[in-house]
Amino acid sequence: MNHKNRKLFIFDLDGTLIERVQEPDGGTRPANTPDEVKLLPGVKKKIAELREQRHIVAIATNQGGVAWGFTTEENVWSVLNEVDKQCGRQFCSRKACFYDPSARHGLLDTRPEYASHTIFRKPWPGMLFQIMMELDFDQDDVFYIGDQPSDLETANRAGVKFRNAEFFFKPTPPDAGIGRRGEQAEQEE
Ligand SMILES: [Mg+2]
Repeated sequence: MNHKNRKLFIFDLDGTLIERVQEPDGGTRPANTPDEVKLLPGVKKKIAELREQRHIVAIATNQGGVAWGFTTEENVWSVLNEVDKQCGRQFCSRKACFYDPSARHGLLDTRPEYASHTIFRKPWPGMLFQIMMELDFDQDDVFYIGDQPSDLETANRAGVKFRNAEFFFKPTPPDAGIGRRGEQAEQEE
């Protein structure tokens, strides 16, 4: 579909939009409940900017913790809802938020109903294709933003552009504009 200049930005969740939760042993894990949701720096502002420019934002996240029994699908929805709330309700609907609750093939001790993965589990591109289909976007107009090499692989497999989350959300310094430097240079001449 022709969306004119509108683009679709699909985001990974953990380590991209929100912080991973610190564990007492020094490790980290994904947020499992709304009170654990903490947006990473720059996220709220950038999402608001994209929406002001009339772009569409969406989320695609693996949630293998469901298969492992660390969390439930209900919890995953409550976390996604909290992310949307903290971002000012910019993610249009459940249509734009996808997660895959399965674990990798062949892993033991997972809940049997989630033990077998599908094309939706990253780095397979199913979730991205699903969102693109639901929101009617072609690959040329889609970006996937993530923090892991597997996110890059997912974007490549889906045929969409990839952006590294750290750089994507970094604010542009106010004096970094070329035009502004150009103006300065002219004034100095
Ligand atoms: Mg991540």
